[in-house]
Amino acid sequence: IAAYDVLIIGGGPIGIACGLAAKRAGLSYVIIEKGCLVNSLYNYPLYMTFFSTSERLEIGGIPFVSINPKPSRPEALEYYRRVATSEALNINLFEEVRELQRNGSEYFITTTKMAYHARHVIIATGFYDIPNMLDVPGENLPKVTHYYKDPHYYATRKVVVVGAHNSAVDAALETYRKGAQVTMVIREDEIGKRVKYWVKPDIENRIKEGSIKAYFHSTIKSIEEQTVTINTPEGEMTFANDFVIAMTGYQPDFTLLEKAGIQLSDDGKKLPVYNPLTMETNMPHIYLAGVVCGGMDTHVWFIENSRDHADKIIQSIKR
Ligand code: FAD
Repeated sequence: IAAYDVLIIGGGPIGIACGLAAKRAGLSYVIIEKGCLVNSLYNYPLYMTFFSTSERLEIGGIPFVSINPKPSRPEALEYYRRVATSEALNINLFEEVRELQRNGSEYFITTTKMAYHARHVIIATGFYDIPNMLDVPGENLPKVTHYYKDPHYYATRKVVVVGAHNSAVDAALETYRKGAQVTMVIREDEIGKRVKYWVKPDIENRIKEGSIKAYFHSTIKSIEEQTVTINTPEGEMTFANDFVIAMTGYQPDFTLLEKAGIQLSDDGKKLPVYNPLTMETNMPHIYLAGVVCGGMDTHVWFIENSRDHADKIIQSIKR
């Protein structure tokens, strides 16, 4: 059984930032990542552009150089990989943490490959693993996806995009520009306020001119092999459809937090209990970092505003 001062769960940008901070503080550490390096970013849409400028995505003060004002997914993969490899960070990939138990003043951690002892545990497991389901008949048909990758696949097809935030808007515009006939089904009465400021007028104008059809105040009722049925303020409608891209957001996997004894609020937001000064949870020496801190509110924390969790935690551990 391997023993470390700090065991970090999740090899996303924030888990890597924590590893860097631990290394610089002279602590022994390991990062355990269930997929590839920065697994969530790897699974993002191929051509996505970040809303942050590159310097705001930097971790450990290591420059992220991009000639574009907002970097793209491949540039971010390049950056985080170079940080991890050039700093020779201790990361175990394709290994999932399954159990986390208190054992005196230490924690005992079991993964799909082995077991570890650690005095401190940082949970930086992100939010991209579980999609928010529509919970409608037909959602499990192969034509429905919660993970949009690439527009070419949808060329000339009839596509429904569900949602009105960044992911939905990007998917609608990209597939429209590769020749799909796009219909957006939107619960709210407008395009989301947090949609990237340079993209928002583009989608609004495409809707206004009718090149992308949008039903507001509307929801999916059911999905059939060749059609989709929606509820609109004018009543129920069924129309021909080849693919449904459901961009309805994601939620963190709370099972590990619950197994570890971390309290979650019971107001539906599942906000984990932690001290914002140290990021330590109600369980001594278990810390939270990154987007997982927001519970169901996954838009509250992102790379830009949570990368400093790493220093807060490591300073607290050092004290
Ligand atoms: P993640 O990056 O989600 O990393 C968590 C990691 O933990 C994952 O790799 C996962 O595989 C791993 N993991 C989970 N469970 C386990 C387990 N049990 N065992 C081992 N490993 C596990 N943020 C910005 O600041 N600027 C932007 O411009 C921006 N653009 C975005 C665009 C899109 C399309 C999306 C979806 C998000 C965007 N974000 C942006 C948000 C940002 O990507 C996330 O906030 C960021 O990934 C959070 O980093 P993290 O390390 O907390 O979590």
